[in-house]
Amino acid sequence: MSGKIRFAPSPTGFLHEGHLLSALYVWAAAKKWGLKIHLRIEDHDQSRMRPAYVEGIYEDLAWFGFHYDSESIQSKRWPLYEQAISKLEAQGLVYPCYCSRKQLEAENPKSETGEIVYQGKCLTRRETWFDRLTNREGRREIEPHNLRFIVPDKVIQWHDLRLGDFAENPKLQCGDFPIRDREGQWTYQFAVCVDDIDEGITHIVRGEDIRSSTARQIALREALGAKEPPIYLHHALISDSTGKKLSKRELAYSLRQEREAGSSPETLLGRVCFKAKLQESPTPLSLDQAISLIESRI
Ligand code: GLU
Ligand code: ZN
Repeated sequence: MSGKIRFAPSPTGFLHEGHLLSALYVWAAAKKWGLKIHLRIEDHDQSRMRPAYVEGIYEDLAWFGFHYDSESIQSKRWPLYEQAISKLEAQGLVYPCYCSRKQLEAENPKSETGEIVYQGKCLTRRETWFDRLTNREGRREIEPHNLRFIVPDKVIQWHDLRLGDFAENPKLQCGDFPIRDREGQWTYQFAVCVDDIDEGITHIVRGEDIRSSTARQIALREALGAKEPPIYLHHALISDSTGKKLSKRELAYSLRQEREAGSSPETLLGRVCFKAKLQESPTPLSLDQAISLIESRI
């Protein structure tokens, strides 16, 4: 099989064990299915990214010996996102939302997962906004707003290689969702879809914590004219001994800190595979061994 998979960290902090596990899954899937590997730095939110974290990603990957075939960084791709949003605007699928965080909380129900399900309050203001479309920036100065994508009210069926079949309606999961935020930053959901399409990504392997984004991403991809969705696999996250997801505190140590404290890549690889229940003890592993171990499980 030929195709392309991506590893897409956000430079909003140094990489930790969770990222290492994701990277191992990506490299293992690439090995198993003969895929090219693309490194994408997801710095779509310029207010949260730091150059030191971008450098950190390169350094950490090199230290472990992860090699990739191509790379991109979202901050160099602004014109592409502008083009993509125009495509949605031309179909009447974008509208500004002026609701404050407080209003959003107070006026909308929450889904089972605790996510706000936006009921489309600002959709009715769309006409006025369309009149001013040519002066979007001017309008923004008057009143801060984000831009929302109108999700179709339909059930999206998709398959996860590990978790099986899903049938989800994004209208009920989150409602129309932001593609650009109040500060003018592209959102994760939007940038990731534009990039996955443009970069020809055929396989998406990522943590289970992002699973609930999949149906809405498929809906957005369709609106952007993507031919078919990629193959998805959402891997299990590292959990503590009671099976709970690792807390922020437990993930607080970055790989870089561990490295500076004298850990070897083999120690960290062995430990992360142990914590992810992929081996029974934290026996050190080489990168090849860790990748092969995961390859045999997917
Ligand atoms: N940038 C996201 C993260 O660091 C990953 C996005 C994805 O794999 O879709 O969590
Ligand atoms: Zn609104």
